[in-house]
Amino acid sequence: MSDTATATAAPNADAQELAKFGELAHRWWDPESEFRPLHQINPLRLEWIDGLARLAGKRVLDVGCGGGILSEAMARRAAHVTGIDLSTRPLGVAQLHALEAGVGNVAYREVAAEALAAEAPGTFDIVTCMEMLEHVPDPSSIVRAVATLARPGGWVFFSTLNRNPKSFLFAIVGAEYVLNLLPRGTHEYAKFIRPSELARWCREAGLELQATRGMGYNPLTRRYAMTDDTSVNYLYACRRAG
Ligand code: SAH
Repeated sequence: MSDTATATAAPNADAQELAKFGELAHRWWDPESEFRPLHQINPLRLEWIDGLARLAGKRVLDVGCGGGILSEAMARRAAHVTGIDLSTRPLGVAQLHALEAGVGNVAYREVAAEALAAEAPGTFDIVTCMEMLEHVPDPSSIVRAVATLARPGGWVFFSTLNRNPKSFLFAIVGAEYVLNLLPRGTHEYAKFIRPSELARWCREAGLELQATRGMGYNPLTRRYAMTDDTSVNYLYACRRAG
C-alpha cells in the first residue's frame, strides 16, 4: 500500500506528512541525514525514559515510531517494544534495521493509535509518542488513544514543539533556514503545541503529569542537551491514573 493510500484510510492523519516521511525513509538511519537531530537526541530521551519508567522487561508501545530510532534503542534496554506508524516506508526501514541489527524484541505495525486503542486498551506499561503530535490533525485524539493504551499506573511520554515567537525563530527559521538541520517545510508553526495545551489534553485523558524537561541545541558545539527550558523542544512524562 502506498503512504498516501494508507493516510486516506486513517481519519486522524495528514497524507502529506506521511508522504514526506515516506520519501526520506531510506536515510532514516544515516546519522548525518535530515534525521541527525533524532539520532542526537535519542540517547538523552532514552536515559530520561529509562530513569523514570525502567524499561527492562516492560511492554512498550512507540507511537509514530518512524524508522525506529527510539523503538530499537528501548528494545536494546530489554523492553518488549511495538512500534506503530502510518507511513509505510519508515516501518519497512525500521523492520529491516532491527533484523540486520539482530534486535528480536521489537515488532512494527501499520495501525492508527486510535484503532489500536480500541483493539488493545490498557495493554502497555509504557507508551512513548515523540516528535509526532505536531504532525497530526487532531493531537488531542492521539493523547486520548495513548492514555487508553497504557495500563492504569503505566507511564506515558510525549515530546513536541512549543508555540511562541522563540520556537518559531529556533525550530523553523533557525533549524530549517539558517542551520539547515532539517529540510524546509518539516514543521508547521500553527501545529506546534503549548505545554498548557498538552497538559489539558493529558488531564482530560486521565494522565497525571509527573515531570517536564526542555531540550536545547547549541549551534557552536552542534550538540543537544536536556535543560529546564521548555520554550522550544519539550518532553512530558505522565502516568495513567491507577
Ligand atoms: N517518533 C520517532 C519519529 C518522529 S518523526 C522519533 O522521535 O524518532 C514523526 C513520525 O510520525 C513519522 O514517522 C510519521 O510518519 C509519523 N506520523 C505522522 N502522523 C502520524 C499518524 N497520524 N499516526 C502515526 N504516525 C504518524
